[in-house]
Amino acid sequence: MNKETAEALVLHFAQKYLSDMLPTDTFTQLDAANATVHQAVQAWDKKITLSSHWGGIIENKSKHAVAKTVDVFKQALFEQKKLCLHYEGKDKPFNFNPFGLVARDQQYFLVGSYWDNTEPFLLSARKVQSLYLTDEAGLLPIDDFNLATFADAYLNHPQSPPEVIEQLVVEFPESVYSYVKNYPLQCDSVSLTEPEGNPAYFTLTAIRVGNNVRLQQWLTGFHDEAHVLEPFSLKKIVNLSYIDQLTNLYNRKGFDRQLQRAIEKFHRDSCSIFSLLVIDIDKFKAINDDNGHIVGDNALKLIADCLRQYDAIRYGGEEFIVALELDCNTAFAVAERIRLSVAALTIVTGNTVIQPTISIGIAEFPAHLPQADQQKIQVTNQPLSTEVKFELIKAITDSADKALYQAKEQGRNRCVIAETGA
Ligand code: GH3
Ligand code: MG
Ligand code: MG
Repeated sequence: MNKETAEALVLHFAQKYLSDMLPTDTFTQLDAANATVHQAVQAWDKKITLSSHWGGIIENKSKHAVAKTVDVFKQALFEQKKLCLHYEGKDKPFNFNPFGLVARDQQYFLVGSYWDNTEPFLLSARKVQSLYLTDEAGLLPIDDFNLATFADAYLNHPQSPPEVIEQLVVEFPESVYSYVKNYPLQCDSVSLTEPEGNPAYFTLTAIRVGNNVRLQQWLTGFHDEAHVLEPFSLKKIVNLSYIDQLTNLYNRKGFDRQLQRAIEKFHRDSCSIFSLLVIDIDKFKAINDDNGHIVGDNALKLIADCLRQYDAIRYGGEEFIVALELDCNTAFAVAERIRLSVAALTIVTGNTVIQPTISIGIAEFPAHLPQADQQKIQVTNQPLSTEVKFELIKAITDSADKALYQAKEQGRNRCVIAETGA
């Protein structure tokens, strides 16, 4: 390519992707340049297809030994061609379908798939021994694949993860039953429950599972449909959207499913009552107003730390929910422990000392449901509809909320049990 074409090409792409950042006379220059090298520019434009999906990966930051690998990989991305890769630890070269390039801590990772476009893999550019472009057309990743989310889940993996997960429990919707059933999981033993409920879910329990990248790839392939219940460390990697970013507790989305499950269990086996604790920080607005939002956020995190061992959910701003498989009197004792652990906190910021307190409302399912809602759960063989389950979740949360209101009325920093048949 001659200098003129190169300059015209740079201007052309600048106009195409950065037009709002350029002075207008750039375009006059561009028109003049285009007139002479129009065809060459058009030919290059056809070769390079930059979708917004790959935004930010184009600039060449690499200065180290892997630069060449990265360049060839970028070329494969732009031309949408499969690559033939020779990778450390693999006997034979294999074909790789490029999805995107990720840079972290001055290291490059190649993201793509082996045979089809459904299962993303991540390879380290440092381990690529050789690679070249093939003539085979590359496939775009499936529609809802998100490069950034995939890379985050993958690369934020703890430095030394346990090699074996003692017990892995994952809940799936019925639609993926045969797929999960036929997948050979590397573990000592595995069992599946039959799909149940409406919509139907089933649970996989595996004992002593190899905690390897392959397992996580398999799970991320389901997106949020694979709901990891145990262990929490894996849930944080796989089900990011169930986790609240500020406090690292579960969020509302995780809560709804957890309560649906508890209600289904009650419906099957009427002994399995549970109690709901609705927790609200006392006079939190004043903490914010007096010390600013950053101190407020920090207090929120410290209070969340007291609730973590109870699998609390961040329900809203400064409200949390804990569900316990206990009757309300036993749950009251747990609630008192939680309340006292928060009251024991001392947060020092500058010259001020904050001693936060919380109030807790407690409702037992189903005893504290209003009469009308109690009738909805007469035990029958019919599964409960999603609509009814949501009505029940709302009703029991409302009962606990009313008890919380009583706790506030009575002076805060206390726990109150809901009134029966309220
Ligand atoms: P009480 O519950 O004891 O009646 O008083 P309160 O001051 O806590 O009452 P209210 O529920 O009205 O106020 C909640 C405040 O919590 C409002 C908002 O400023 C603050 N808040 C909610 N979410 C966040 C958050 O994520 N960070 C911070 N810093 N503040 C939050
Ligand atoms: Mg509140
Ligand atoms: Mg409050």
